Amino acid sequence: MANSSSGTAPISVTRSLPTVAIVGRPNVGKSTLMNRILGRREAIVAEQPGVTRDRKEMPANWQGREFTVVDTGGWLPLGAGDNASMDAKVSAQSERSMGEADVVVMVVDSQAGVTADDEGVAGRLRGRAGPVLVAVNKVDDEAHENFIWEFVKLGLGDPFPVSALHGRGVGDLLDAVMDAFPETLARDAEAGLERESDDAMVSVSIVGRPNAGKSTLFNRLIGDDRSVVHDQPGTTRDAIDTVVQTELGPIRFVDTAGMRRRARIDQAAEYYSLLRALAAVDRSDIALLVIDATVGVTHQDQRLAERIDGAGCPIVLLLNKWDLLDTEAREAIALDIDRRLHFLGEAAVLRVSALSGKGLNRLLPELRGVIAEYRRRIPTQAVNRVLRDAQAAHPAPDGARVLYATQGAADPPTFTLFANRTLPRTYLRYLERRLREAFDLGSVPVKLRVRRRSGE
Ligand code: GDP
Ligand code: GDP
Repeated sequence: MANSSSGTAPISVTRSLPTVAIVGRPNVGKSTLMNRILGRREAIVAEQPGVTRDRKEMPANWQGREFTVVDTGGWLPLGAGDNASMDAKVSAQSERSMGEADVVVMVVDSQAGVTADDEGVAGRLRGRAGPVLVAVNKVDDEAHENFIWEFVKLGLGDPFPVSALHGRGVGDLLDAVMDAFPETLARDAEAGLERESDDAMVSVSIVGRPNAGKSTLFNRLIGDDRSVVHDQPGTTRDAIDTVVQTELGPIRFVDTAGMRRRARIDQAAEYYSLLRALAAVDRSDIALLVIDATVGVTHQDQRLAERIDGAGCPIVLLLNKWDLLDTEAREAIALDIDRRLHFLGEAAVLRVSALSGKGLNRLLPELRGVIAEYRRRIPTQAVNRVLRDAQAAHPAPDGARVLYATQGAADPPTFTLFANRTLPRTYLRYLERRLREAFDLGSVPVKLRVRRRSGE
């Protein structure tokens, strides 16, 4: 295909651009939405159902990304409506647009709720291979936001509230459309190739102050019964990861360059080792924080723990050199942990001797638990139920309210809360606690992102 598209003849480029088809029964606001996306009045908008008849393909642009919007001229399931032949024609046209489109946006009307025609449209879309997004239109103000959850039952995923007329939420919808375009997916897949193989493989970093016993621990972990599969270059030139076969499957130990060799170069400076630890943590699913129990929890340990926690990486605490501690010292360090590392909440604490291997048998089972928690994904409706109950029990001050929420990412569990205004930090912590309890998230860090959803 010739690809000499010029910016002044937009129609000529439609084939080579990703396409989004806008479908839905008449009168839900498809034309209005299309106008909104195009930023001008191209399609015909009328009160009378099904007036927009022609399939229109229009070049559009969102955040510098060019694409084509197809207005399908409505979509009535066959046999519905007064004018069956016209409807059939429209449907055939819609069907074709839908088949050709990369992404389909199904528009529904929040004020009408789910109609039989909506069910019919959704039924066909559910069989489609490509992505389908549901735009719940006519959410002109926040009062209407609660209606959107009814549309979850269309079985097409989490709905996007929009007001085509006022532009509300259309940006978020378009962001999602861009994310769903095949080239984005292909690009992400390419970028994520390594990540994908990483997905199957858990990455673990062993961090802690110099002399805490990291190398001893690591050498113990790769000892007799477990075999080193291979070394992999890390991000920096001298960072080497070691992949170890364990009963949990392969585990990648991140940045083990300094740990493998018995006679290491020299003790790294404390500051340098902190930087190095943080870089390793960034590439890890889980951090093993090794603390020299004979020294206790130092300020440096505390800082490291805070940074790891802040990066959203779950921590397993290893109190090492346990063999050297008398009863008094053992009690003292328990207090130390409560005092200095209380923010880690329910993080696992293992008392071990890396030198003798004592206590290390609990490490893999512990990792298994943390990994399972870490990878959990929670259904949107359940998230919203918990938040609704939490807010009913304790409303936020000044009428602030979470309208709804979704779990965006699973690693670590990240919830996006759509709120009508800024929520106080203390209140967010309360909601986080409730989510944590409801879904047994234990020690895994939970991230809350808040987005404002008040009138625009
Ligand atoms: P189509 O048949 O699906 O293309 O629907 P139209 O775009 O022609 O819109 C149908 C009616 O809904 C028109 O009267 C629009 O003004 C109205 N409408 C569209 N979007 C909105 C919206 O966001 N809020 C409200 N209140 N009305 C809307
Ligand atoms: P790294 O700097 O964190 O890698 O620490 P190393 O693994 O080099 O350990 C520092 C010193 O602590 C070495 O002399 C180890 O033999 C000793 N060590 C490590 N783990 C233990 C342990 O569990 N018990 C005892 N008694 N000594 C240990």
